Amino acid sequence: ATAEARFIANNLRSKQLHELAVGVLPGGNTRSLLHTPPFPLSMKQGKGGYVWDEDSHKYVDFVGELSAGLYGHSHPAIRAAIVSTLDDVGLSLGSTTAQEQRFAAALCARFHLARVRMANSGTEANLHALAATRRFTGRRKVAVFAGGYHGAVLSFGGDGGTPAPNTVERGDFIVVAPYNDIAATRAAIAAAAPDLAAVLVEPIQGAGGCIRGTRDFLRAVQDAARAADALFMLDEVMTSRLAPGGLGATLGLDHPPDLVSLGKYLGGGLAFGAFGGRADVMAVYDPRDPNALAHSGTFNNNTLAMHAGYAGLADVFTPDACVAFNAKGDALRVRLAVGAARCGGTRLTFTGCGSLIGLYFTQRGVDVVASSDDLARAGRRTDLRDLFWFEMLEEGFWITRRGFIALILDTPDDELDRFVGAVAAFLERHREIM
Ligand code: PLP
Repeated sequence: ATAEARFIANNLRSKQLHELAVGVLPGGNTRSLLHTPPFPLSMKQGKGGYVWDEDSHKYVDFVGELSAGLYGHSHPAIRAAIVSTLDDVGLSLGSTTAQEQRFAAALCARFHLARVRMANSGTEANLHALAATRRFTGRRKVAVFAGGYHGAVLSFGGDGGTPAPNTVERGDFIVVAPYNDIAATRAAIAAAAPDLAAVLVEPIQGAGGCIRGTRDFLRAVQDAARAADALFMLDEVMTSRLAPGGLGATLGLDHPPDLVSLGKYLGGGLAFGAFGGRADVMAVYDPRDPNALAHSGTFNNNTLAMHAGYAGLADVFTPDACVAFNAKGDALRVRLAVGAARCGGTRLTFTGCGSLIGLYFTQRGVDVVASSDDLARAGRRTDLRDLFWFEMLEEGFWITRRGFIALILDTPDDELDRFVGAVAAFLERHREIM
């Protein structure tokens, strides 16, 4: 039987749930990204670094909730924070709280922010931050990058699997420049300069294919933004886990940038986003000013996220834990790449940094992946990508269909060893179609 036929036969409960779901959700789904033909796998439980699907197969969780699941499922410290919040505090209190202040102080200290505001998602954080840049500068336009992903309404394409651009919020004020292309970026920013409020860039394009911005490129973006009198904003929603103070602190930029957006794991695994930076820019949200912008949101300071996020940052993902965790990811990437080379597979390309790993099948080898176009030009092998996904599920590895792995803190080392072996065995088994 083909891998897909085996998938169907092995996952009848997921299939049945999908058939029920399409009756009430468009496509049976409420997160477009999670749709995988012929139907998505439904998970019913997670524990530590593992998940179980509805047909009771067990997997090592390499999806890691697209990087928000860094602490794994029901980490003892996160669980304790949530339970004590339920028992001793309550859910939302309709007021500011001491815990909100405490968490804000921890975020400011860790990521070198003068002021911070909380939100419910990375998307929201980016939207509020961009609104701040427009109010602060009195300008309209925002420069972003092809393949960039800043949330569902701020998505700019890319072959790495970024959802298709959503045009709702785009209007005519978004300027899209090519990632890692210094000359074209300088030109685009200069052209927009008179009306440019901000330049928003990911230090690594996460959803766009785990593609690293070069230091020279990111420095050029920063300098071009400054030259245009526009604000320089880093989207660290995905990358803040890669270094103790966020990846931006390691890139030789003027640190901190004007604004930063955060999210994902920082809410302890609960819905969360935050944005912060310069006090004068963030002051556009100071409600003591009658002309301030409103930044409201019923759940912005919900007690569960304030407690769980703080517990995670203060007690679990300490700077030392962060460094060790990402070293583990780098070691895994190297081992995977060595295994792929041994199997004659220059066609398996690894991207990413630290605990975030992109894994792409291409017709030709790619030495440097500087943009999602480079992967496209190398000839994406979606047939191998899908075969890999089906077969890794059979081996007990839950990874995203598009080949993105976000490690979880406590995944046992022997499971990483087993994965290295499974990837090498896959390449060997399918040598004739590589
Ligand atoms: N920014 C980046 C870089 C992201 O990777 C994401 C989510 O994947 C977001 C923003 C949006 O965050 P959320 O899904 O919490 O809205």
